[in-house]
Amino acid sequence: SVTITNLHKSYGSVEVLKGINMTVEPGQVVCLIGPSGSGKSTLLRCVNMLETPNQGHIQVANHEVTDPDVDINALRQTIGMVFQQFNLFPHLSVLENCTVAQIKVLKRDKAQARDVALKNLAKVGLADKADRFPDQLSGGQQQRVAIARALSMDPQLMLFDEPTSALDPETVGDVLAIMRELADEGMTMLVVTHEMAFARDVADRVVFMDGGVVVEEGTSDQVIGNPQQPRTQDFLSRVL
Ligand code: ATP
Ligand code: MG
Repeated sequence: SVTITNLHKSYGSVEVLKGINMTVEPGQVVCLIGPSGSGKSTLLRCVNMLETPNQGHIQVANHEVTDPDVDINALRQTIGMVFQQFNLFPHLSVLENCTVAQIKVLKRDKAQARDVALKNLAKVGLADKADRFPDQLSGGQQQRVAIARALSMDPQLMLFDEPTSALDPETVGDVLAIMRELADEGMTMLVVTHEMAFARDVADRVVFMDGGVVVEEGTSDQVIGNPQQPRTQDFLSRVL
């Protein structure tokens, strides 16, 4: 689970997160929506300690992210991340992309890491591409490898930051289908997305952010189907 309490983050004198409160219960999928610049990526980056908040608390599973003494490695092992740019290691094969952190960080032996990687590559439909290199794959396939790589670390939480927005339209569906399957299996997920159909179908809760604050949150039926706040209505009228 994730609990975010009164989170503030500034860059210089510009405050981009202005007191965010948010919870993701175990097994829940929360979709985070909102206009460009509203602070969605900054929020995810704070959860994963890629940014240091100025104020507030974040708890992920049993880790107090905002504790100065937090074990960063232990925390990062519990969180899988998939971003817009897939960030695969270009010089490693698909299989190696999925084994290297298992071996280095989790201290798994090569055979075990390979088994886990192949299981997850099969899950994303790419077991037959294990020996390819990233530049031999389509964008959608690379993103599926990025998901398999994250899953190979046995995360308790998956963060997605617009995982389909850099993809060709014809490959978007494959990636969303895998995310949907993960959700059905009970993975805890915090997903920044502009895919409103996905949010509507898959999210347990939808959070609409604008200007560094949570403007409205609720079930997808509430927030997407029947938004109450003018800013949410305006945003949805432009993206739907
Ligand atoms: P998008 O939908 O375009 O991805 P977002 O909601 O993810 O937008 P953020 O990337 O979190 O928005 O950015 C929020 C604000 O913080 C923006 O005004 C952005 O310019 C600013 N910002 C983000 N990162 C930095 C940084 N490293 N230094 C200074 N300002 C930053
Ligand atoms: Mg962003």
